[in-house]
Amino acid sequence: PRLIDDEEGGVLFYSTSALSSSSSGYGFASVEKQRQRLPVYKYRTAILYLVETHATAIIVGETGSGKTTQIPQFLKEAGWAEGGRIIACTQPRRLAVQSVASRVAEEMGVKLGEEVGYTIRFEDVTNTDLTRIKFLTDGVLLREMMDDPLLSKYSVIMVDEAHERSLSTDILLGLLKKIQRRRPELRLIISSATIEAKKISSFFSPSKRRQALQTEDHGPNAEPAILSVEGRGFNVEIFYVEDPVPDYLQAAVSTVLSIHDQEAMGDILMFLTGQDDIDAAVQLLSEESRNGRNQGLIILPLYSGLPRADQDLVFSPTPRGKRKVVISTNIAETSLTLEGIVYVVDSGFSKQRFYNPITDIESLIVAPISKASARQRAGRAGRVRPGKCYRLYTEQYFLKEMSAEGIPEIQRSNLVSSVIQLKALGIDNILGFDWLASPSSEAMIRALEVLYSLGVLDSDAKLTSPDGFQVAEIPLDPMISKTILASNQYGCSEEVITIAALLSMQSIWISARGTEKELDEVKLRFAAAEGDHVTFLNVYKGFIQSNKSSKWCHKNFINYNAMKRALEVREQLRRIAQRLGIVLKSCEGDIQVVRKAITAGFFANACRLEPYSYNGTYKTVRTSQEVYIHPSSVLFRVNPKWVIYNSLVSTDRQYMRNVISIDPSWLREAAPHFYQHQQPKPIAH
Ligand code: ADP
Ligand code: MG
Repeated sequence: PRLIDDEEGGVLFYSTSALSSSSSGYGFASVEKQRQRLPVYKYRTAILYLVETHATAIIVGETGSGKTTQIPQFLKEAGWAEGGRIIACTQPRRLAVQSVASRVAEEMGVKLGEEVGYTIRFEDVTNTDLTRIKFLTDGVLLREMMDDPLLSKYSVIMVDEAHERSLSTDILLGLLKKIQRRRPELRLIISSATIEAKKISSFFSPSKRRQALQTEDHGPNAEPAILSVEGRGFNVEIFYVEDPVPDYLQAAVSTVLSIHDQEAMGDILMFLTGQDDIDAAVQLLSEESRNGRNQGLIILPLYSGLPRADQDLVFSPTPRGKRKVVISTNIAETSLTLEGIVYVVDSGFSKQRFYNPITDIESLIVAPISKASARQRAGRAGRVRPGKCYRLYTEQYFLKEMSAEGIPEIQRSNLVSSVIQLKALGIDNILGFDWLASPSSEAMIRALEVLYSLGVLDSDAKLTSPDGFQVAEIPLDPMISKTILASNQYGCSEEVITIAALLSMQSIWISARGTEKELDEVKLRFAAAEGDHVTFLNVYKGFIQSNKSSKWCHKNFINYNAMKRALEVREQLRRIAQRLGIVLKSCEGDIQVVRKAITAGFFANACRLEPYSYNGTYKTVRTSQEVYIHPSSVLFRVNPKWVIYNSLVSTDRQYMRNVISIDPSWLREAAPHFYQHQQPKPIAH
């Protein structure tokens, strides 16, 4: 094979023309045929050669070319999993981890959880002795470094979907670069659907001096190599709306109906932003049965948190004479490949995390996507034959206003979790960390401030013992981890762990358009005057008393699957808590101590009702931001004077989700340092 030197900085590009594919004689003929048809198959030898000879290989290839499902198998076939070693492949999304792992297990004809396994937070489907290929989220791999800083059980780590630039991916890449220096035998593969490759490649390119050292010990070439897999996507014709649409949901639904009316057979993929608008679209489309416009349509939602059986439907072949319409978050943009999509309907939006270090507010908001995302979305229509993409925005908007690329998540996130993890890994100089893209110093300072006030960091910004190390051990947001620690002193660890488990679900309620009123009424059965956290406890109690009945859940608009998962999470948290020496104890209905424990973790989210406020305006104590109680909260319209929220969502206003009332005197008790240099006003009131 011929390696070509790139003139721009010593980066190696691989010539793709003269490659031969190897013929391998593995069983499962039809699966093997399918595998051989994937574009990446032709590059099998080239990929294995690059991994053998280079410490870092960067592989760029269009979505659906087989990167995620095939490369780990190639590596295994080539012996990289021998001698007890493991091949890791990371994904930013949990659903993608589960989905590709089960696909690969199926292709290899093995039972998921044995030779091929996966790990996501709170769910480990691997076997210590058997698992050779392991899919996991980038966040879980970061956590594994706390026990095994050099990730020594892995021979190859494939960081997949690097173009997404998720928070954990960026941190992982920085840490892997450090590990590589200590473990020259480790191989990295960084794969991406778009050409972010140059930036990543120069990030991994060693300095001249180290390169000189490298040649002496005959190790792998330390210069990263880039290989680009040529896909064979078909042309996609793009359509724009002529005038901006007032409601993308309505527009998306009517676009689907007119495709179904007028266009040849072929499945439709609709990009919306989250479970709420996806459920709404499913409902709107289902309602079209009255006039028969949806006849022959199979309507399928796709978002994380969807039950397994529903996920599988998305991948099952479309029956003859039918048309699938998959309504998805941007998980189908590059993480998952659906066969048979010919039409794409692109709302132009996705849910994105935004963080403002000045106000210290992080929220998930529905925001316009970038041109790069829009192109990816359109590309999904050209997998099986020429396709069509309907953009629900104007061409003018696409050309003039859409940003070229998204901003890496690390530059729009609260860094509290990342900072504590880096600290736990012994990275003391956070500001001097080798970032792929530097977060703002304001964001870092905010994170250090919060961690200091939580008692997790000391005045030298070192992890405190034992609190800091314990908080770092719990795989939750540091505020909730701190709440669990505090519950030990207050004698309510059982309650707080239950709350933590329920809070880690997206939602435990079943909400659908048109049933909001019923849901509100049902909630009243569980509503607690203290707030949503205590309401969660009532729901949990009811669920246990019903003998974990799905019928009971259905009757009460409660998501049975979420409750079952919450129980598993709860068990794991109890085990972790016990390992940390927390005594599992119930406060037997003394809710005040639960609220105090929550205050000990979430004091930074305290808000006060504005005096003389007629419309429920609150202000955050820290930064005097205007916020409101979310209509889904049991405290909506109750408006206690002092509250603490779990998270904020932004729509037209900043809404507090999951709110509990507190006594302001607890704030100073919980965080004397934190409230000392604030205005005296909030405490005095
Ligand atoms: P890439 O990572 O390059 O985007 P993948 O390896 O994910 O590509 O996909 C390769 C092929 O495997 C695609 O044809 C895709 O449809 C198929 N595939 C992946 N996951 C599944 C699954 N869970 N069920 C069925 N087919 C799948
Ligand atoms: Mg992939």
